[in-house]
Amino acid sequence: MQVGVLALQGAFREHQLALEKCGAGVRQVRKPEDLKGIEALVVPGGESTTMGKLMCDFGLLEPVRNLALEGLPVLGTCAGLIMLAKHIRGSQQASLGLMDMEVERNAFGRQVDSFEALLPIPVLGTVPLRAVFIRAPYIARAGGGVDILAAYGDKTVCARQGRFLAAAFHP
Ligand code: GLN
Repeated sequence: MQVGVLALQGAFREHQLALEKCGAGVRQVRKPEDLKGIEALVVPGGESTTMGKLMCDFGLLEPVRNLALEGLPVLGTCAGLIMLAKHIRGSQQASLGLMDMEVERNAFGRQVDSFEALLPIPVLGTVPLRAVFIRAPYIARAGGGVDILAAYGDKTVCARQGRFLAAAFHP
């Protein structure tokens, strides 16, 4: 499988290494041409305002959105979750707007409040996942078509809508 990893900014290297360990081929995506032939896309953690701005500057926002609407599966983690959301609380920043959910940025505090947690994710089985929350967002509201996959306390942190998967943490 050939997986694209959006490589404008943020934790794209970690996703590349993890995907390669799983046996997938990885293409770093920086220009619209890089999207050719990929079968899935990862939007990594980083800084969503910067990522959105760079996606506009590099002419990637529309092509990625169109491919996703045509069926390309997309995983967004942390800033990537924010990029997937239709609504971002208190912000007009650029996003792909693919998932029917409202997210709140920096919902667990500042950088120094970052933490790791063993997070139960029932669809993945009984063994909890070590989830890394770095100035993480959470899903404040989700539409009817969105399946909630995990919560940390009272906050939804992982959800899926069809071929789109969003995690507030770094997996
Ligand atoms: N706080 C960042 C944002 O709002 C996300 C943090 C992350 O991706 N680690 O975009």
